[in-house]
Amino acid sequence: MGRPLIGTVYLLHFNAPFGHARHYTGWSADLSLRLAEHAAGRGARLTEVVAAAGITWTLARTWPNKTRSDERRIKNQGGAARRCPLCGTRPRIAQPDPIIALPQWIEVVENGVYSLAADCESCRKRRGIFEFDLAQAERRVCFACQDGVAA
Ligand SMILES: [Zn+2]
Ligand SMILES: [Zn+2]
Repeated sequence: MGRPLIGTVYLLHFNAPFGHARHYTGWSADLSLRLAEHAAGRGARLTEVVAAAGITWTLARTWPNKTRSDERRIKNQGGAARRCPLCGTRPRIAQPDPIIALPQWIEVVENGVYSLAADCESCRKRRGIFEFDLAQAERRVCFACQDGVAA
């Protein structure tokens, strides 16, 4: 037996409940690819039916450097809402949706926190995923450029 494959456990928060389901916990060795699959309505039965129902989702949290058995352990703990920052007690401003996982997202790990970033096609600055209008699928332009703030 080789070493167990290392990947990322991730938590998707549905932007509207699907029946009783509000979350999907998964694992992937290639998170960007996996998110693109989910966004296209593939990859898992639950995310398939959620996409078919027109419900979008937000990548709420990731656990880097995990194996599939870590995923099982996290799932078996139940209560995904307790692990979900978007379901926390802090009031949240509206989250962007949907995450359209185009290939130009860059995986960044800062202070142990995994996130996605991209280079703005207009100002060329590297910005975090939440600085982009994710509903805009054709061009990756940051909010600052879109608003005409950054020259
Ligand atoms: Zn949540
Ligand atoms: Zn920009």
